[in-house]
Amino acid sequence: MADTDNFIPPDRRVRRISSIEATRADLYGGPSVVMPPQHLMARSSAYESARSMSVAKLHLDGDISSADVSPRGSTPSSEEEPLVTASKYAFAFDIDGVLVRGGKSIPEAVEAMKVLNGENEYHEKVPYIFVTNGGGKTEEERCIDLSKQLDMEVSPGQFICGHTPMREMAEKYNTVLVVGGEGEKCRIVAEGYGFKDVVTPGDIIKYNQHTTPFRKLTKEEFENSRTRDFENVKIDAIFVFADSRDWAGDQQIILDLCMSKGGRYGTRSETFDEGPPIYFSHNDIVWSTSHEYTRIGMGALRTSVEALFKAVTGKDLKTIAFGKPQLGTFQFATRLLQQWRKDTHGIDSAPDTVYFVGDTPESDIRGTNEYNESDKSEHNWYSILVKTGVYQEGTTPQFPPNKTVENVLEAVKFGMDREHRKEAKEASMKKANEAIIEEE
Ligand SMILES: [Mg+2]
Repeated sequence: MADTDNFIPPDRRVRRISSIEATRADLYGGPSVVMPPQHLMARSSAYESARSMSVAKLHLDGDISSADVSPRGSTPSSEEEPLVTASKYAFAFDIDGVLVRGGKSIPEAVEAMKVLNGENEYHEKVPYIFVTNGGGKTEEERCIDLSKQLDMEVSPGQFICGHTPMREMAEKYNTVLVVGGEGEKCRIVAEGYGFKDVVTPGDIIKYNQHTTPFRKLTKEEFENSRTRDFENVKIDAIFVFADSRDWAGDQQIILDLCMSKGGRYGTRSETFDEGPPIYFSHNDIVWSTSHEYTRIGMGALRTSVEALFKAVTGKDLKTIAFGKPQLGTFQFATRLLQQWRKDTHGIDSAPDTVYFVGDTPESDIRGTNEYNESDKSEHNWYSILVKTGVYQEGTTPQFPPNKTVENVLEAVKFGMDREHRKEAKEASMKKANEAIIEEE
C-alpha cells in the first residue's frame, strides 16, 4: 500500500509504504519510506530521518533535481517543543552484530534508535545511515527487513550495501556468472542492477549435470535454471553477490571458469591467466549469527577459492572485494551525508564527525580508521566497537577502535555526550576569549 505525505506539495511527495506489503517495485522510482504497520496512521520520530536521507540519496543519484529539495530543518512533531536536528555530526551503523543478530533485533537497538530520534536529554535528532556488507538482497529489501526488525520507519536511501558499487559494473560486462544467495534471488538482484545477461551455477549444472558430481539440482532449481548452450557463451566476469549455499559446487564452477580460455565454459587455458575477473561483494571471513560462535562467510570462500586455484594450477589468482573496509564504501557514505546536510541545513559540506558503530574489527573498525587517515580534511570518522557481535571481550582487536562499548545504545549515548561536551568546551572558550578582548 502506498500512501502519500500530506505535508509536502505533490511534486515533492515521499511515498509511505507498509513494510508488510512493500515490494521492491514499490521502492524504486522516487523517494520512499517503509513504515511498520502501526506507524501508517501516525508517524514515529524516525520518519524525518528516513525521509530526508531518501531525498538526499536521490539527489546524489541525480534521480531528482535539486529544485525538489525537502523542507529545511526538522518537522515539528505534534508535541509541544520542536526538536533540533543536529548538523555537525551523524551516525553510521553496521547491521549484523550491532542492530540485528540471527534475524532479530538486539535488545538495545530499538532504544538506541529512539535516542537518536529525539528521546534524549539534549532534545535533539541525529541523522543516521546503515553501511552493511550483508549481501544477497537489494538496498530496498534490507530496508523492509530492518523496518520490521527495529519497528520504525527506514528508507532505502539510508542504506549502503557491500554490493552497491557493483551497479557500476553492469555497463562494463555483458555476460556474467552470479554466485550465492537463495534460489534465483541474486540473478534478480543482478538484473535489477542492469546486468544484461546473467548466468547462475544452476544454468551450468542444467547444461552439463556432470559438472558437480555430488550435487544434483532439485526439481524447482532445474525448472528455474535457464537452458543455454554454453559452447557459445563467453562469461566476461564472475560476481559473488551473497554467501554460497553450495560451496563445493560453486567452487568447482568458479575454478573451471578461472582456468578457462577467456571465460568459455569447458575450455582450459594452458597458462591459467586467461580467465574472467572475479569480484566478491565483501571480504568478511566470519560473521555473527544466532550461533554462539561466529560462522564463516564470503571472505572465507574467497580465501578458499584462491588457495584452491594455487593448489590446482600453481599460480596466484587475483580477486577483487568490495564493501567495508574498502575506502570507496566510506567515500560514498560521506557524499550521502554531505548531500543530506545540504538539503536539510543548507550547508554544503560533510558533517564534522561521523561515528561508525560496528562489531567487526577487520572491516568496520579498519575501514573507519583507514578512511579517517586517508581523508585530509577536518572531517572525522570515529570508530566505535560493540561487544554484541563478532568481537568478543577479552581479545585484542587487530584494528583498535577509538572507543569500545558494550552495545549500540552505549555507543549512541557516548557519541552524543562527546559532541555536547565538545560544544560546551567551545562555548566556554569563546566566552573566555571575549572576556579577554573586553579587558583589553
Ligand atoms: Mg557486523
